[in-house]
Amino acid sequence: PPGGQARANQRADIPGVKSIVAVASAKGGVGKSTTAINLAVALAQTGRKVGLLDADIYGPSVPRLMGLEGKPNSPDGKSIDPMRAHGIECMSIGFLIEGDTPMIWRGPMVMSALEQLMRDVNWSELDVLVVDMPPGTGDAQLTMAQRVPLTGAVIVSTPQDIALIDARKGLAMFRKVDVPVFGIVENMSYFLCPSCGERSEIFGHGGARATAKELGTDFLGEIPLHMTIRETSDAGNPIVASAPDSDYAQAYIDVAEKV
Ligand code: ADP
Repeated sequence: PPGGQARANQRADIPGVKSIVAVASAKGGVGKSTTAINLAVALAQTGRKVGLLDADIYGPSVPRLMGLEGKPNSPDGKSIDPMRAHGIECMSIGFLIEGDTPMIWRGPMVMSALEQLMRDVNWSELDVLVVDMPPGTGDAQLTMAQRVPLTGAVIVSTPQDIALIDARKGLAMFRKVDVPVFGIVENMSYFLCPSCGERSEIFGHGGARATAKELGTDFLGEIPLHMTIRETSDAGNPIVASAPDSDYAQAYIDVAEKV
């Protein structure tokens, strides 16, 4: 196809990295980053060597969610060593900028920053690199999906109609650039009351499963809405690492088995 060669060149492999899994959402706040980090930890627990790349240049959250502080080393002044937490090699623009500096870069600068975060990092031989994508389906995301040599994408959505309409856009975006979609995860799928055990479907339930079916992609699982997920995530101690035997961790482990 026209431009096919150029596109292939733009998608040069990252040396030593066997597969790259994008975790994406078409809108913010649906739990994309929380899913990405827990998925990464779940994959590492299966014995794979895992890296985590925070491609959310404007809103990096991997440092906080993985409990990482400080700056990475640069042994030769050119390349940077990834930071390590919970058995995972991590890289984020958040390690390189001051805490509350707003990112006011335009698209091309974001792309070159991302290229550096991918390629100027001394990753070990990785079985899988999980990429926490920026939310949305705009030009920037499309370019990124085109440049990063993705093996496949996981789309995170809440059960609400509005979020699912956006998830459809996300799926269409990856299909447009020929990136296989592993499927859709429904986050905040239901809530189990910790005192009485009653199940409430706060944002509705089952919408992602129905949408996945309709769009011909897999449904990868349901993650409950639970305070422990939020608390562990915000404390830099993802639930799959801090309580691997809990039902909540199992929900992420089940998703990891499908990617
Ligand atoms: P996004 O990356 O889509 O913007 P985040 O992963 O940052 O979303 O999640 C937004 C907020 O929701 C965070 O405070 C996070 O801890 C919380 N959160 C995400 N998933 C869950 C869940 N299943 N249960 C409880 N809180 C969650």
